[in-house]
Amino acid sequence: MDEGTLLLIRKYAIKNAMDYGGKPNKSSIFGKILSKEPDMKSQMKELNGEIDLAINDILGMSPETLEQEYKKYDSEFESEEKVKAEESAKHKFELPGAEKGKVATRFAPEPSGYMHVGHAKAVFLNYELAKAYDGKVFLYFDDTNPENESQEFVNSIKESLDWLGVKFDKEYYASDSIEKLYDYARVLIKAGKAYTCSCSGEEMSKLRAEGKPCIHRTGKPDESLKTFEEMINGKYEEGIVTLRFVGEMESLNTTLRDPVLMRVKKGYHYRQKEKYSVWPLYDFNTPIQDSINGVTDSLRSKEYEIRNELFDQILNSLNLRVPRTHIQARLKVKDNITSKREFRELINQGLISGYSDPRLITISALRRRGVLPEAIKNFVLRFGMSKTDSLVSISMLFDENKKLIDPIAKRLFYVESPVKLKINGFNPAEVKMKLDHSSDAVRDYQVDGNLYISKKDAESVKEGTIVRLKDLSIVKIGIKSGDTIMCDVAEGKTERTIQWVSQENFIGCTVLVPKDPIKDGKFDTKSLAVKPGFVESYAAKIGKGEPIQFERFGFVVLDDAKKMEFIMTSE
Ligand SMILES: [Zn+2]
Repeated sequence: MDEGTLLLIRKYAIKNAMDYGGKPNKSSIFGKILSKEPDMKSQMKELNGEIDLAINDILGMSPETLEQEYKKYDSEFESEEKVKAEESAKHKFELPGAEKGKVATRFAPEPSGYMHVGHAKAVFLNYELAKAYDGKVFLYFDDTNPENESQEFVNSIKESLDWLGVKFDKEYYASDSIEKLYDYARVLIKAGKAYTCSCSGEEMSKLRAEGKPCIHRTGKPDESLKTFEEMINGKYEEGIVTLRFVGEMESLNTTLRDPVLMRVKKGYHYRQKEKYSVWPLYDFNTPIQDSINGVTDSLRSKEYEIRNELFDQILNSLNLRVPRTHIQARLKVKDNITSKREFRELINQGLISGYSDPRLITISALRRRGVLPEAIKNFVLRFGMSKTDSLVSISMLFDENKKLIDPIAKRLFYVESPVKLKINGFNPAEVKMKLDHSSDAVRDYQVDGNLYISKKDAESVKEGTIVRLKDLSIVKIGIKSGDTIMCDVAEGKTERTIQWVSQENFIGCTVLVPKDPIKDGKFDTKSLAVKPGFVESYAAKIGKGEPIQFERFGFVVLDDAKKMEFIMTSE
């Protein structure tokens, strides 16, 4: 095997080890080498042997050495990944029929709940598509259901979008153009394309199911117009009369069977107050809003595909431009909560603390938990413009996040359920330890040999075991005296490395450890563990939300400085 290939194996084995937390994955290294050097297929046995050698070599390295080795090839890996990402982005972000410089997309949230990671997919797709075509992206609040919507939700959505780093070229609200919608309704009525109907809901469902029109459909436009004005002026209570589209009662596409365009809704609207009591339905409102606001390409999730024909018919009846529609799959997250109803129920029952409960996948919860906006973007864009629904584990998001925080996170020692450990004959010393992987910053403590280690570590070391107390000393575990494990300074091969905190320099803290909130289809009441412990006193200098790694425990963020409460981001 030539030198070049051997170097390639070494490089990718090191990269792989870093990607997989120190444990290289053989088959993935294999795949990588074969994709780079397809000729190697004729030397599988030799390749296998060389990869084994490289892996063994890496397993013998300390984490520090591995990192040093990785840094040698760092820039190479980076540029390679960049090219790969750019290439795949080109393939993914396509709008058939669109022209560069002539594209406008929109993100269209209803302000009736908090944004979650599924919405973030729509945000970033619209944003990236607009960018790919040198186009514009709009923020459109689809707020035509007075009973569900509030300013609180508008604010929280905008806050989430700001935090995600998305900037819009225009912001507008459906409820600001209700008068226009009334005008379009009048045009349809006059043209015989819409009529007011006072059939009951049951009657109408029956007729629609049978594909038969009701008696109101053939009434005079003037009468419908009069009734429509009366609706607007507040004459009717809810549920008495609706405005229907003249569709196709016999169409196999049932959405075309004279759907309701507008109905009476008398609730208080957070933005328009009591100005309107007739509100449009999605089918009528959204295509018109997109058309009149200059949207060229609207992304809709799969369940709307069947409505495209109806949208086209409505716009054509009004002589309005028909935007291109692109169907894309929804991103569904396994064992989590996205339904507004479920959120409310769990909050009311006191099972979750609110919309930013650290177990949730709302944007505010993920932010609180220490997930970076960039990680959310990378995660959601992985699915591209696929039409196939994906049901994914949120751990994929945490993996993306880890790639970003690992190089910058400060490393601290934390011991869960602390147990005392005393090193006999230890000469008090000042200990300096590296603070992170990317700088020369250190944290230092005066240590006198009286320490704490975690209960888990204490239980796993037997008398006579030689362990490395990280960055401090090698010791041989002795007997337990009272509540303290005694040990002596030692030499020799260590079985493991464990973290510690000095009895002189620690802070009591708790770590909230969130898990997926749903287990076997039900809410898991044990999905948020509270782990008390001690953290080294450097923790007093940590800022809220700053990425930290408690070594051999996991990535955390400080959530409440007063209570010294951390939330675990991921392992
Ligand atoms: Zn009717």
